[in-house]
Amino acid sequence: MVSADLDQILSLVKLQENELKLIEIKKSLENIPEQINELENSLLEFENKIAEKEKEASDLNKEYRAEEAELDDNLNNIEKNREKLIYVKTNKEYEAVLKSVEDLKEKNIKSEDIILDILDKIEKYEKNIKCLKIEFTGFKHQIKSKKKQIESEQDSNIKESEILSSNCGEISKDIKPDLLEMYYKITKLKGNYALARVVNSMCTGCDLNIPPQMYNELQRDRDTLTFCPYCYRIIYWKKD
Ligand SMILES: [Zn+2]
Repeated sequence: MVSADLDQILSLVKLQENELKLIEIKKSLENIPEQINELENSLLEFENKIAEKEKEASDLNKEYRAEEAELDDNLNNIEKNREKLIYVKTNKEYEAVLKSVEDLKEKNIKSEDIILDILDKIEKYEKNIKCLKIEFTGFKHQIKSKKKQIESEQDSNIKESEILSSNCGEISKDIKPDLLEMYYKITKLKGNYALARVVNSMCTGCDLNIPPQMYNELQRDRDTLTFCPYCYRIIYWKKD
């Protein structure tokens, strides 16, 4: 039978408090690589967005140059056709040359419209890219300072976890080994909460009222361990 006086129980309570804090800190430390990863990814996403816009702008520039080249070709061809007119002999030939000149002129009108349209788009793209780059600079600073903040939190959490670990070691020294063993067994079963205080006859581990006689006995000075009849945690009573 494992026995424990109130001092031993209160040492366990202290141990539990330190261990619970330690668990919480370890959890937040585990999340840090993911947090940093997320920040770096958001930066990368932004960079990709700019690169995508730049690629689209460069495609538009290519389109513009191709359209310009076609326009020049057509102008040359119009000139050549006009020269041909001097040498044509029949009416039919004359008509045919005139027709092709008209066709080329029509094509060029369309090309000019397309070119204006492309130039308009290019201008919009360039403005947009410029804005995005300015925005990106601000965003980069923001991410950098967030990262710094996370890293400094990480440092202080590591320090605190070291202190908590050493506290746990120190507290454990004052607790009887068989009691400590039992504590860890219950801890495993009860999601890290092995002890629960009883307040106004209610077990704070499960929020149920313990039997009145048990509550009376719990308030007396005694050496036996008491377990909650509902959640099986070690229960204790302490004056406020
Ligand atoms: Zn309980």
